[in-house]
Amino acid sequence: MISRRLRIDSVAVHAGREDLVELGVHALPIDLSSTNPLPGIETGGLSYEAMAGGGVPHAEGGAVYGRLWNPTVARFESALARMEHTETAVAFSSGMAAMTAAILATTRESGRGHIVAVRPLYGGTDHLLASGMLGAETTFCTAEGVAAALRPDTALVVLETPANPTLELVDIGAVVAAARGVPVLVDNTFATPILQNPAAFGASMVLHSATKYLGGHGDVIAGVIACDQETAAALRRVRAVTGALLHPLGAYLLHRGLATLPIRVRAQQENARRVAAWLSTHPSVSRVHYPELGGDPGGLLGRQMKGPGAMISVELRGGLDQAGRLTSGVGLFTHAVSLGGVDSLIQHPAALTHRPVAAEARPSPGLVRLSIGLEDPEDLIADLDQALHRPLGQARDRDPAPAPVRAGAAHA
Ligand code: PLP
Repeated sequence: MISRRLRIDSVAVHAGREDLVELGVHALPIDLSSTNPLPGIETGGLSYEAMAGGGVPHAEGGAVYGRLWNPTVARFESALARMEHTETAVAFSSGMAAMTAAILATTRESGRGHIVAVRPLYGGTDHLLASGMLGAETTFCTAEGVAAALRPDTALVVLETPANPTLELVDIGAVVAAARGVPVLVDNTFATPILQNPAAFGASMVLHSATKYLGGHGDVIAGVIACDQETAAALRRVRAVTGALLHPLGAYLLHRGLATLPIRVRAQQENARRVAAWLSTHPSVSRVHYPELGGDPGGLLGRQMKGPGAMISVELRGGLDQAGRLTSGVGLFTHAVSLGGVDSLIQHPAALTHRPVAAEARPSPGLVRLSIGLEDPEDLIADLDQALHRPLGQARDRDPAPAPVRAGAAHA
């Protein structure tokens, strides 16, 4: 194994693969076992006890049962932890399962039932916290309001940066200081470990909806939390009993996707810069939410986040009508929720991802969110341009970009 400290692109390609040569294989192995042969009652029981307590399998006891532990998932976790510079990571069946485990692990185990959450947040997270369905009470506030919102029974502070969907940047270090020792969970889904490592600024838990950039191809639903060993044990205890372990095929796809994460994120970011700059000059657009275009009053770009990322939101002068025209008029973008994949998506947060959010915190009806992919940015711009000029109700052109390929023609 190479011992010197590798840079992030090398870590992305090699992390979690350290033993492959020893195993005599080149690709990541997948273990789909739902149960495991027990070497004996005593050792199997020791393993079971270790995992129920949030630990790893006993050396001789094996994994026992696929809801408790899976080696393919553990490989992905170790790779992601290296990319986030944390001791370890715990992977879940979705980002929301990860958030649920974080809430339960911090509130139920400590007996403290209060959470402070910095808005805006992803609609599902906001809904989960506001509903109180996990038995915790949440106070929503701004980043500046965290200190005042704390109570003696506060168990967790939650924030997203950049926030979904307005791309607001939150100063992680400032919130950690204001939290006065209460663990801070940072949702790093939009930034990815390529652009931001929240643990370096004091975050106790770094959450990803791995469904997004980590997977990158729109074919996995998953979540992961990078953290220290003690926090991981608490999260695994919840994961084991609530049955929220990530499926090994998902873990394999995520691990495979990590290798291209740095180049995907940087290329998508370059495309987003071009699209955001174009949108900022368009007469139908009253405001572009993009960290590099006036969205960084606190000067966090460069200091906390290495680049502006590949998510953009726009406020349309024509409000909801124009939002409907744009989302139904595009052909190269897909009108769909989710984000972070190689193909560009567009959606209307107030109607969809942020629908369950309380009215006072819901995004405006004229706000549309774009996830910029790996297409040629000029094609993306042309698609948005034709959709913005399309009269209301006119059928869209599903495939405006490529010309038909003739037999015998060379195509790259
Ligand atoms: N966090 C953010 C920022 C998200 O955008 C999402 C989903 O869109 C989630 C968490 C939830 O993740 P999942 O859909 O994988 O459960």
